[in-house]
Amino acid sequence: MLGPVYYYVIIGGGMAGLQLALRLKNDVFFKGKKIAIIDPSFSVKKDTTWCFWEKETGQWDKLITKSWKEGNFKSSLGSQHLKLSPYRYKMLTSERFYKYTLAEIKNSKHFDLIEDEISEIDAVKMEAIGKNKTYKGTHFFDSRVPSEYFETENYTKLYQHFKGYKISTEKPIFNPEKFLMMDFRLKYKNSTSFTYILPTSTTEALIEYTFFTPYITEEAIYDKQLKEYIANFLKIDSYTVLQEEEGIIPMTDFPFEKNNTSEITKIGTGGGWVKPSTGYAFKNTERKISKIIENIKSGKEISKDLFQKKFQLYDRIFLDVLARRNDKGEKIFTDFYKKNTVDEIFRYLDEKTSIKEDLKIMFSLFDPEFIKSFFRKF
Ligand SMILES: Cc1cc2nc3c(=O)[nH]c(=O)nc-3n(C[C@H](O)[C@H](O)[C@H](O)COP(=O)(O)OP(=O)(O)OC[C@H]3O[C@@H](n4cnc5c(N)ncnc54)[C@H](O)[C@@H]3O)c2cc1C
Repeated sequence: MLGPVYYYVIIGGGMAGLQLALRLKNDVFFKGKKIAIIDPSFSVKKDTTWCFWEKETGQWDKLITKSWKEGNFKSSLGSQHLKLSPYRYKMLTSERFYKYTLAEIKNSKHFDLIEDEISEIDAVKMEAIGKNKTYKGTHFFDSRVPSEYFETENYTKLYQHFKGYKISTEKPIFNPEKFLMMDFRLKYKNSTSFTYILPTSTTEALIEYTFFTPYITEEAIYDKQLKEYIANFLKIDSYTVLQEEEGIIPMTDFPFEKNNTSEITKIGTGGGWVKPSTGYAFKNTERKISKIIENIKSGKEISKDLFQKKFQLYDRIFLDVLARRNDKGEKIFTDFYKKNTVDEIFRYLDEKTSIKEDLKIMFSLFDPEFIKSFFRKF
């Protein structure tokens, strides 16, 4: 039996689905429109720490656990102190995000949170087909990652994969005023691999060991690298692991956006909202949602101009270099952080730079491998 016809059906109540739902709820333009969010489970997930940068204040400030005005970049080729002002690097736990967004959305009678798993969308009948029921809507926002992405071998596929320990130490070790963006000094073989540290106090920090590689490693390798970094680089002999975190994020030029139609807009990882060259998605999601809302209000196709072709090309070239020459990562990132200002770096990664600024960054990274990849990928 069919239920109501929803104005929007959001498939997936994760980071992207809930950010979208919250923005729709808080915008009077959508007042009174009935919206369904469908997910197999609306439990509060405690498994992720999201970080992003933004200038001074922002939408999530009341949920932020910690923010930093300064950071460091380190590698065996040189180090760089990162003075972020006017930016801040901000950290948010998924626990706070889910508690807050779910409470806000549950407060509105216009949202139905439905526990179900969607197998497909029938764009002719305008129905999302779930295990339990079928849901009618006038538009579908879909955060499922298409199976084609897993099956195809036609695109560059790297993975940002990592494991982290949230540790506490007896003695004060960390400087909570500075985070560590990347430290390449402890590498795994010839791969692009580094350590990342988010210190929340003098005795507590989240330490992650991360790879940007075309393959996934065994769990024991992250543990080995983490333990070695803690012992030999941080010189900590006694600590307690309070929590562990791990993840795999796609870094790919797979064209997720080709699945957008006038009936369905793909969102989140499944929509290609993870920046391919960095694996960051949280702030990107906020920006893409702003664009979606602007498109809806001006009567345009909902997914119009969600992506900029020139940045897609830059990312494609960068991924091709890393896929072919994974050993080059340390040098590329060292040049990136040492030869450009924080403002240039963040504006470039936020896809806000002009061609002239892009060229400056490209020259700073110069390596013949980029030329090869340009001709392979253009
Ligand atoms: C451990 C970890 C740390 C990360 N850290 C950062 C970071 O610091 N900064 C950053 O910018 N990005 C980070 N990312 C990347 C990115 O922000 C996250 O992966 C983010 O969760 C992606 O949002 P999403 O909504 O696409 O996916 P999810 O948050 O995973 O949500 C997808 C939802 O869809 C639901 N779903 C799946 N299949 C179906 C179905 N068939 N029917 C209905 N619902 C379904 C799932 O249950 C889930 O709730 C991190 C990722 C991970 C894994």
